[in-house]
Amino acid sequence: MSTTKKDKRHCAFCGRGEDEVPMLLQGLDGCICSDCIKLAGDYLSGMEKEKKSEPGRIDSLLKPKEIKEFLDQYVIGQDRAKKVLSVAVYNHYKRINHNLVDKSGDGVELEKSNILLVGPTGTGKTLLAKTIARMLDVPFTIVDATVLTEAGYVGEDVESLLTRLLQEADYDLAKAERGIVFIDEIDKIARKSDNPSITRDVSGEGVQQALLKILEGNIVNVPPKGGRKHPEQDFIHVNTENILFICGGAFEGIERKIAQRLNTQVIGFDAAKKQKVDKNNLLQYVDAQDMRSYGLIPEIIGRLPVITYLDSLDRDALLRILTEPKNAVLKQYRKLFELDGMTLKIDEGVKELIVDTAIKNKMGARGLRSICEQIFDDAMFEAPSSGRKTFTVTLKYAQSRLANIK
Ligand code: ADP
Repeated sequence: MSTTKKDKRHCAFCGRGEDEVPMLLQGLDGCICSDCIKLAGDYLSGMEKEKKSEPGRIDSLLKPKEIKEFLDQYVIGQDRAKKVLSVAVYNHYKRINHNLVDKSGDGVELEKSNILLVGPTGTGKTLLAKTIARMLDVPFTIVDATVLTEAGYVGEDVESLLTRLLQEADYDLAKAERGIVFIDEIDKIARKSDNPSITRDVSGEGVQQALLKILEGNIVNVPPKGGRKHPEQDFIHVNTENILFICGGAFEGIERKIAQRLNTQVIGFDAAKKQKVDKNNLLQYVDAQDMRSYGLIPEIIGRLPVITYLDSLDRDALLRILTEPKNAVLKQYRKLFELDGMTLKIDEGVKELIVDTAIKNKMGARGLRSICEQIFDDAMFEAPSSGRKTFTVTLKYAQSRLANIK
């Protein structure tokens, strides 16, 4: 041992003697010097810091209410979806921390809750997922389910979505394993028909089967550069257990399935319920059963336990989208003019014209930007060299700029 009666006492860690160190502490079987205590302290607090900076840790995670408030800054309306999403995301990252840190052994293991967003195209599904990822500062990627095919067929293997996530995380595996993947157009990989046919459904049910192993939390072999998997390739082993998958789809015609279900339910059980059904917005009743009748396989639905819906956007919502979000389109144009030392003035009626044009051409929120582009592109070409201090968009000017898309 480090000390005997005869020997000079010395530090059991650095080996220096009593007279070579500032202070020596006596333990049961040996001593430690104050320098080594300090070093160990620094090491431990470094480890602690590293743990705390893990993305998605609960210490840095906002509560559901705060998450919704954050979403409110970027996404207009969609209150129900925002609430459901806030809780699901909060629980997801709480679960990661619980399973990661608090292995207190109460036996309660929290299951992953991937999310399914159902709603018309251009209503903010992608925007919601993107905003959540921005808030959490975790890697985020969007994949279109229509480009995926079962392995071995023309198209992309499902593993490619993890390659993209890895790329987003600069190949930092730990970071990628806490990321968010948004799978768009999940409705397009619905089973093509109820009867299993002789021809393989490689872009429908085949993809659902392939997605399943990724969604449920597994170690997946991912080709680091994407492309087809081949046997001699080195793979990165990605654990998908803590990756949050948010799926989105328009599920066109789903209202019919919802109505059918509600009708049969009402006949069988509770006739009074029939009056309560709001026929103008059937999407609000969407559930797992409807997803099944639409053609998602039960195993996939089981892996997407949180289902919520988005409302279609009315005129008021579009007007708000134009001006209210933190990075609203008109705010962006104002900024662009401001950078040239100019004030942008927009006359009465111009915003309404933009929105009405979007509605008339069935362009939805996505169209607002291109309509604005049409109005502003000439001005942005001329104005910077004009030496003017303000640029005013009159209703007449906007109408003339939009004449060819009306
Ligand atoms: P989806 O994924 O539902 O098809 P997106 O989220 O891609 O639709 O929306 C397209 C664009 O329209 C967004 O980038 C955003 O500019 C705008 N947008 C759509 N819905 C909203 C909303 N609820 N609030 C604010 N902007 C929206």
